[in-house]
Amino acid sequence: MILEPAALTEITLAALLLLILICFYCLRGKKWRINNGVLGLGFILVVAVEAEDANGAAVIDGDDYYYYCTVDIGSAGGINEFLLAVPLSKCKERSPLYRKKFDGFTLRSAIPSSDKTWGNWAGTINLAPEAIFKPTSLTDLQDIVNLARKNGRTIRCAAEGHTESSLSVTNKYLVIINNLKNVQVLKDKHYGWVVTAEAGVSLNEIDNILRINNPPLALSSATIPDFVRAAGVVATGSHGAKTTLSIMSDQVVSMKIVAANGKVYEFCDTNNALEMQAARVNLGLFGIIYSVTFRTEPMFNLRMTDTLPLAKDFLVPSVVKQLFESSDSLQIFYWPFNSFDSEATQPLDPTKDKMWVKQWVRSDENPTFSPEELAALRVYQNQSSLQANPQYQLLLNNPEYTPAISSAIWRQGPGLSPTSFVLQAPDAIHFLSPASKNIPVSFLGFGFKVDPDFKNFVKELQAIINAIYAAAAQNSFPLNSISDARLIRSSHALLAPNFDPDPNAIYCFIDLVSYHFTPGFQTFASSFGQKWIQNYNAKPHWAKEWEYVPNVKSYLSKAYKKQIKTFEKIREKYDPNKLFFDNESLQEIFNGALHYK
Ligand SMILES: Cc1cc2nc3c(=O)[nH]c(=O)nc-3n(C[C@H](O)[C@H](O)[C@H](O)COP(=O)(O)OP(=O)(O)OC[C@H]3O[C@@H](n4cnc5c(N)ncnc54)[C@H](O)[C@@H]3O)c2cc1C
Repeated sequence: MILEPAALTEITLAALLLLILICFYCLRGKKWRINNGVLGLGFILVVAVEAEDANGAAVIDGDDYYYYCTVDIGSAGGINEFLLAVPLSKCKERSPLYRKKFDGFTLRSAIPSSDKTWGNWAGTINLAPEAIFKPTSLTDLQDIVNLARKNGRTIRCAAEGHTESSLSVTNKYLVIINNLKNVQVLKDKHYGWVVTAEAGVSLNEIDNILRINNPPLALSSATIPDFVRAAGVVATGSHGAKTTLSIMSDQVVSMKIVAANGKVYEFCDTNNALEMQAARVNLGLFGIIYSVTFRTEPMFNLRMTDTLPLAKDFLVPSVVKQLFESSDSLQIFYWPFNSFDSEATQPLDPTKDKMWVKQWVRSDENPTFSPEELAALRVYQNQSSLQANPQYQLLLNNPEYTPAISSAIWRQGPGLSPTSFVLQAPDAIHFLSPASKNIPVSFLGFGFKVDPDFKNFVKELQAIINAIYAAAAQNSFPLNSISDARLIRSSHALLAPNFDPDPNAIYCFIDLVSYHFTPGFQTFASSFGQKWIQNYNAKPHWAKEWEYVPNVKSYLSKAYKKQIKTFEKIREKYDPNKLFFDNESLQEIFNGALHYK
């Protein structure tokens, strides 16, 4: 047991300390079991210590955890404060101090989980940080931050781990926020019905609580997967396919963040609009997001129509523009080599390839499927993707099979026939969940402004098809999964890739997707990243792959320089010592931006 400071002069204080020492000793040793009187006193004192505790936290020192607490003891000379450090791991199994709960009293702690490693969903990032924490409450978050500060460690967060860039990478403290699970629907005087989700609540859980609300409600737009978490999608500026809205961060009404001093701050437009503009896409740099409050709207139905036009007929700017203008949401996919026919005189013929066009429009019709039928559809999607996974795996060593395998999966899946269904909004928005979990892929994703006549957008979709066939002619098959594009509005979040003062500007986000570890994918994808940067000042989706694109960081320093300067002033206020700034790519981009005049 360590007592700090050592020089405590008051006699009363010394006596009390002695008592505490005896009690802790008894709690740690065998003696507490046989002496109920001392045990009882020990409990009382532990509770008393906790009650006085302003910033209790466990501190890691080698394999030992110390529980630190500030103790205030009154005497004739006034209030004396000292720091008490109790080693917790020495008697892990038997010490009630080590257990999280006893007698309904929760010990404030920041004790790491037993996990020693963490990896992202795609298997492309694997970490063994100094400690991994899995907090379950706001108090835990505060203790972890206090602990990191005391120990001079940095923190990065992870949620469902679907990010492919290095945003969660750290060798210090990794905080996995998935166990923060409370969610509440409230009526706000400014925004009407809103939903407040703790950081680890999944979009699926949000959808479900909104569905059963009276009146039933829905998020207006969201990512395709619904298992991703509230903080994960907001921190990275993730988005859906709704043509009149922007990224999910722009649907956020307020956000609570635990900053570097361990205190909770609420960000919202009414408190400080500029700070909120920065916090919307914060990349985990302001602190640990504790909760996020989203706008909602009354539940609505969407007719989701999938068509399969020939690429050469569809990839016409006026056709795409007209479709965009008549859609609630729109997603355009290209599935490589979908017309491949080994029996044909020309097995690889891009003029026969089709696009997969998914259009959503609002509908007053009832949903096509009963809940049971919808559940059966999800089971079917899930099984199909599980069956496809080993086929994609085969391509890692046999890339020349790409046209045959890709076209076979297409014919059994989206290429089977056009479809049109009415679904409740969340079922339509997350049309693939949870099947999108089954095939680990690498994504490169960039956003850029679409020309008023849509020419640049359509040109780039065509260029992707051309490049896939040009590579195939060289017996190279770097893109074997899909390319997809969504068209949304600009964002006013400072670090959004589609940041634009014009609220009506249209931005496209294009993904290039291949099975993870596909040879040649990074080079192929990089060439598009570079071209889009050069031609359209494109910016990467922060959560997808982009760091290997040559010169991308110096480019982003320049492209974001104005926004970063504003962001940085706010960030410094909440994290002056860079406790959360443990990311090399972001450091390089920010340092570069701050050096520009
Ligand atoms: C199959 C798949 C489909 C996808 N679909 C879409 C899509 O439709 N649209 C789209 O825009 N994106 C999409 N993405 C990207 C995805 O939305 C992001 O990667 C998102 O961050 C995933 O959420 P998550 O819960 O997995 O967060 P994680 O990947 O675990 O975390 C993302 C980052 O957010 C930060 N963070 C998380 N929690 C906190 C916290 N509490 N406090 C501070 N910072 C925090 C951290 O920096 C962390 O690195 C997809 C990705 C995959 C793999």
